Amino acid sequence: MKHINVALFVPHLGCPNTCIFCNQKTISGKCSELKKQEIISAIETARKTPHSIHNSEIAFFGGSFTAIEREKMLSYLQTASAYIGKDFGGIRISTRPDAIDEEILSILKKYGVTSIELGAQSMCDDVLSLNERGHTADDTRKAAKLIKENGFSLGLQMMTGLYGSSREKDMYTAGQFVELKPDTVRIYPTVVLEGTKLAEYYIKGMYTPETLEESVELCSLLLELFYENSIKVIRLGLHSGGNVEEGFIAGVYHPAFGELCEAGIYKNLVLRQLGGMPKGNYTVLVNPREISKMTGQKKSNIEFFREKGYFLKIKGDEELKEYQIKITI
Ligand code: SF4
Repeated sequence: MKHINVALFVPHLGCPNTCIFCNQKTISGKCSELKKQEIISAIETARKTPHSIHNSEIAFFGGSFTAIEREKMLSYLQTASAYIGKDFGGIRISTRPDAIDEEILSILKKYGVTSIELGAQSMCDDVLSLNERGHTADDTRKAAKLIKENGFSLGLQMMTGLYGSSREKDMYTAGQFVELKPDTVRIYPTVVLEGTKLAEYYIKGMYTPETLEESVELCSLLLELFYENSIKVIRLGLHSGGNVEEGFIAGVYHPAFGELCEAGIYKNLVLRQLGGMPKGNYTVLVNPREISKMTGQKKSNIEFFREKGYFLKIKGDEELKEYQIKITI
């Protein structure tokens, strides 16, 4: 049976900061405070769909959940926790790395929170400071350790192409994530949104966002790194919907960004295996379920190699696992 997640947005609530790229009102598509009745009705609607309880979650996203005024945070938790064990397996929250300590973790546990995601964004202190995050990479390390020690599932979120970052710094951040052994990761290429300081930097020419091509190339490598380390990437790129389209000024925002990156992994795998081989015709074997990823959107991978003088035929091979390829002549 399928799992379902109820996503509840708490835009900017509890957040003491204004990171230069953040406009939570734009991201969540609403600016009013989340009401108890809205939580109940979202959950009641979701629970009517047949689902497996064990891996279905009620998720509070946006803002900094553990920094919300205590009474309000408890009331959100109380409302959601009434459904835990009966209809849902647990509650998922996202928060800032510097808003986690032993006391807050014991409260979260009591109310059925099972997964905590940290908006780490970067593990480079210079990038964090330039983006006015208000926390350090060490805050993330400490919070991640505490979360794992207390038996929660750990999620880490990173952003690529931040102001002051680089491909090397983003790769470093991913490497640091691997060392923290999260259960899940989300990767968001930076988007310039209206009403943010980053938008001012962009207009003044102080910030140039990644291109779609650069971002896909980088995120394919990150995805591969996390895959090799058995870390699940549960999101690549911002969700469509909300009001992102309206607030969008520049940056990487593509509705099929994840698929582009998956195709990018296959492109890299073939590139590595073909390295040094003469131009000509080749057959690439992949798991049958992976053929469309190997082919790429609008046959982009086939085209890419054709331009380099490699003419590829893609065939399915049940023996191969995800992200495994075999090349034959
Ligand atoms: S910590 Fe999160 S909610 Fe707060 S300003 Fe930064 S990105 Fe926005």
